[in-house]
Amino acid sequence: KSADIGVLGLGTMGANLALNIAEEGFRVALHNRTTKKAFDLRDDNGELAANLLPTETMEDFVAALKSPRVVLFMVNAGAPVDEQIDLVLPLLSPGDIMIDAGNADFNDTVRRTKRVQGTGIHFVGMGVSGGELGARHGPSIMVGGEESVWQHLKPILQPVAAQYHGEPCVAWLGTDGAGHFVKTIHNGIEYADMQMIAEIYGILRDGLGLQASAMAAIFADWNARGLSSYLVEITAAVLAETDPGTDKPMVDVILDEAGQKGTGRWAVIEAQKLGIGATTLEAAVSARGVSSRRAERQSAAALYDGVTLPAAGFGGDTASLAELEDALETAKIIAYAQGYATMAEASANFGWNLPLGEIARIWRAGCIIRSRFLDDIAKVYDTGETVVNLLQAPSFVERVARGQAALRQVVAKAALAGIPTPALSAALAYFDDYRRARGTANLIQGQRDLFGAHTFRRLDKEGVFHHQWPAIQDG
Ligand code: NDP
Repeated sequence: KSADIGVLGLGTMGANLALNIAEEGFRVALHNRTTKKAFDLRDDNGELAANLLPTETMEDFVAALKSPRVVLFMVNAGAPVDEQIDLVLPLLSPGDIMIDAGNADFNDTVRRTKRVQGTGIHFVGMGVSGGELGARHGPSIMVGGEESVWQHLKPILQPVAAQYHGEPCVAWLGTDGAGHFVKTIHNGIEYADMQMIAEIYGILRDGLGLQASAMAAIFADWNARGLSSYLVEITAAVLAETDPGTDKPMVDVILDEAGQKGTGRWAVIEAQKLGIGATTLEAAVSARGVSSRRAERQSAAALYDGVTLPAAGFGGDTASLAELEDALETAKIIAYAQGYATMAEASANFGWNLPLGEIARIWRAGCIIRSRFLDDIAKVYDTGETVVNLLQAPSFVERVARGQAALRQVVAKAALAGIPTPALSAALAYFDDYRRARGTANLIQGQRDLFGAHTFRRLDKEGVFHHQWPAIQDG
């Protein structure tokens, strides 16, 4: 009984996380459905072999763990997690801890937490971001569950997590599903970030007629300023790459259909359930859906080939590049504000008391959306003032007020030129809707009252009213 933690599921993420934990000096018991992988992992990593303890059976695996036992599941989300819990749970004792470190639907995490309630066994839903490299060298880790359990896990997770100027990118965020919820929103924001960058790429390619190498230089340049982020950095790297087989830019030979595993969609569904319009995230998820219908897009392209476009609209001068940069930065603020609004609402709704500033801090390194901008968000929460919405935080008000004209220009020119910008447009529309003191829902209330006697409230009097509208006859 010498292992500090057991990792169950040694696919891409599990294997890398196990190596990371072992490298930090902890002894890690290893188990995998295909048991050979556990032994291969030890044999292929000789320098860490002393800390890697592969096991043949689940019984051996659990028996190898120090008490209280910590079992970290890193298997595919959904049924595999429940199947593995079924196998492990009977072998555990009160005080032991199960961690689901996969991309679980937070609703499943809430359910699994309830399942172990009263048994003395703890369940932790833990979001891990950073892909394969993050898992190996330091991911961003979002922990949910009981706070007392976090205190036990902290000594292992802190050194394993990414470090941002010496601060570990791991935090306890709240009970039951809080960690997985925040990971889900992280992924929704990630989708939006990637989509908005892809839309700007579309303008550079189809509006400005630039080649991939020129675009690589533009993104590399932007990465030195406000947009500085992992996603902009890798965009430049992707655009700079050449396909060895054809000598063409790599990006020009890649099929234009985006894959997805569903976490972005969950973010949008949860935002909708909470009554938050995370429209930029929604647009990003929808755009992946449209992308995957390539054959249908191609037949539609042929049908609308001759439509009149009012303007080409974009010029390749420095001014338009600066405009694109400002537009992207402004839309990014709006997209993050939507993600943060979703977390704030979830926090109130599920009683989590999510530490929103801390979330920005643990996203500053290790995860896919890491960026300079997250430090700006952390600073907003550091002021200690109540943040109604990021779009009302003084530092962001100033930036959005400055950048909104550029976003408006880019969306308008793209629309005139027939270049789709669903996420950038959604960000702009949300912003304009959000900042409008007198909206148009008064008309909707009138319609609802006419057809369904749904009642309305008035600007000039307290109370609930119904009006006798004229009868509308069909035909
Ligand atoms: P892989 O496909 O690389 O590995 C899956 C692992 O799950 C394997 O160990 C596999 O065992 C095991 N497994 C699958 N089904 C079962 C089952 N029914 N019973 C027992 N074991 C099973 O996946 P990843 O490592 O990429 O992903 C693991 C989790 O981490 C997922 O929830 C994913 O969403 C999440 N994640 C992934 C990231 C990434 O960048 N890849 C980033 C962040 C989170 P076997 O070897 O026997 O097939």
